Amino acid sequence: MVMESFISAEPSIPLVISLPHVGTGLVPEVEAQLTPVARLVEDTDWHVERLYDFAREAGAGWVQATLSRYVIDLNRPPDDASLYPGQTTTSLCPVETFQGEPLYAARGPDPQEIARRREQYWQPYHARLSALIDQARDRFGHVVLLDAHSIASFVPRLFEARLPDVNVGTYGGQSCSLDLSHRIMEVLHAQSEFTCVLNGRFKGGYITRHYGNPQNGVHGVQFELGQLAYLDEPAAVYVPSRAASLKTLLTQLVNAMVAFRPTR
Ligand SMILES: [Zn+2]
Repeated sequence: MVMESFISAEPSIPLVISLPHVGTGLVPEVEAQLTPVARLVEDTDWHVERLYDFAREAGAGWVQATLSRYVIDLNRPPDDASLYPGQTTTSLCPVETFQGEPLYAARGPDPQEIARRREQYWQPYHARLSALIDQARDRFGHVVLLDAHSIASFVPRLFEARLPDVNVGTYGGQSCSLDLSHRIMEVLHAQSEFTCVLNGRFKGGYITRHYGNPQNGVHGVQFELGQLAYLDEPAAVYVPSRAASLKTLLTQLVNAMVAFRPTR
């Protein structure tokens, strides 16, 4: 059975938001092979779509995954080259949780099965995202692509200590103009409630790196949010009072992105 791997909305402002890890759906043929812990889909970017709902209402283009990253990771390159060579990271069709627990009761997917998932789930997401980016860029002359993520604030296997609340990734300055990253960091440095870092542990995944092309009018930025900033870990319960302050900050950041005009 083939499930649609995303939901989407067309942009009416020069901003497109991609949410590749918010999906919790498991297709039956994959679910049948998973361990009980895998079925909890704990490594989901929980509730990130709620944090940016205001931007969607304001007309941002929107591509939101409906399937879990355990089926296929939409923020990994199709050839599965490592995003962080030499560091522990997860793959296109992961076989372990972030904690290192096995996802599959027996063997993980073979190359044929990985190719099938890539064709049925990965490619349609990217075809849609690519089309919406082009649509906004053609209409406005430029577009900001925000790849929106979150992760547990403590994952010792992937990074030391508590992760900052807002991890901005611009692929070391290559995926967007310096002016845009300055504006983003200015907003972050003007407040003290949430900690932040630019191009720390998370520099931007495949989506930010692949589509971000400032010379061609596409400015890619990844936000990796530490989940303690808006939910209770590890239960993944959304805490509206905590999320409210974070949404205020995200609103300022999104406003800066929408107001951004590249200099030529
Ligand atoms: Zn993510």
